Amino acid sequence: MLDIVQLEQDLDQEERMIRDTAREFVEEHVKPDIAEHFEEGTFPTELIPKMGELGFYAPNLEGYGSPNVSETAYGLLMQELEAGDSGLRSMASVQGALVMYPIHAYGSEEQKEEWLPKLGQGEAVGCFGLTEPEHGSNPSGMETYAERDSDGYVLNGSKTWITNSPIADVAVVWARDRSAEDEPVRGFLVETDRDGVTTNKITEKLSLRASITGEIGLNDVRVPEENVLPGVSGMKGPLSCLTQARYGIAWGAVGAARDSFEEARQYAQDREQFGGPIGRFQLQQQKLAEMATQITLAQLLAYRVAELKERGDLRPAHISLAKRNNVRMARDQSRVAREMLGGNGITTDYSPMRHMANMETVYTYEGTHDIHTLVLGEELTGIPAYE
Ligand code: FAD
Repeated sequence: MLDIVQLEQDLDQEERMIRDTAREFVEEHVKPDIAEHFEEGTFPTELIPKMGELGFYAPNLEGYGSPNVSETAYGLLMQELEAGDSGLRSMASVQGALVMYPIHAYGSEEQKEEWLPKLGQGEAVGCFGLTEPEHGSNPSGMETYAERDSDGYVLNGSKTWITNSPIADVAVVWARDRSAEDEPVRGFLVETDRDGVTTNKITEKLSLRASITGEIGLNDVRVPEENVLPGVSGMKGPLSCLTQARYGIAWGAVGAARDSFEEARQYAQDREQFGGPIGRFQLQQQKLAEMATQITLAQLLAYRVAELKERGDLRPAHISLAKRNNVRMARDQSRVAREMLGGNGITTDYSPMRHMANMETVYTYEGTHDIHTLVLGEELTGIPAYE
């Protein structure tokens, strides 16, 4: 496996163990069927509890069944899952970073006890409802709102592009609280079997096909006061969750690129043209050399961001830089790998084109490439350029 600058040498026992567990899981349970799931537009839902059993959902949290592993171990886990497919890593990111994290960080004791063990074990599935049909890059413009009722809130609005909403048991829905002054954004735990909730599936995707995506319709949905996340108010709530998920993506994208690279490297040795393997041609070697370089640089960035996160120094600009760079790298390099596979490269028999298609989503969700560019622009100049 590609590791030219010997990063593996510095991994501790726990990090190696988590990485190896995830790698074996992907080899055994994901790789054999993932192309078929991609073609069919389905997610291997039978793996959801298995992933829970193996501790793949938010193992970097502490307590309520989570072992509090190092940020590097968590990153390596995301990397191995995304080497399988971005759909798999998205499952773990949403469940862990976007659902368990806000409950862990901002939930009441009762909410933590009720949801964290079930979500951690994959006995319940969660989803994160922030994006709306008219508000993607500018979620603070959201129109979904909550109004006080006698013993709780009534929610109205619609969310779209929500990973796992059609199979979720609970949705973390971000909505404006119209009953409070300034109408702050609050987080609501909405069980999807409540009256007035609909979760239609979006079927027309050409990217991230091995992942279930849907809408969340909220039509006079009543939730009790106990379902509000008490510990946060304002856009800090959803944005802090996104920082957690983007951290995992910065690592994960390297896994997709690495898997594409390994497929191309093998192919270059096996495929013969003009009387010998194509890997003997300098043009092919140049492609491999450039891919290996770009993957290594992205990998180093992921390790650095892990250090910053571990010691509590991680800032949104760090995450924007890492997510932006590493996803762009994976998008570019999976295309080069596809190219090296010739005609065979456009089939689902090989992973690079699947990864390449997935990267279109990963490039767009969790803050588009453009939006992260603007975050960095603001960091560098002190001038925000969003509007
Ligand atoms: P827009 O915001 O409409 O952007 C369109 C284009 O305009 C982009 O290229 C963008 O970069 C550009 N643009 C926008 N504003 C600016 C600006 N100020 N300056 C320069 N360029 C700009 N959301 C959730 O809440 N939960 C989920 O689980 C989830 N899962 C997803 C799964 C998939 C498969 C996909 C595709 C999306 C998912 N999303 C989810 C939504 C995702 O986060 C949004 O698609 C993303 O934030 C972009 O919003 P948008 O699609 O509305 O694009």
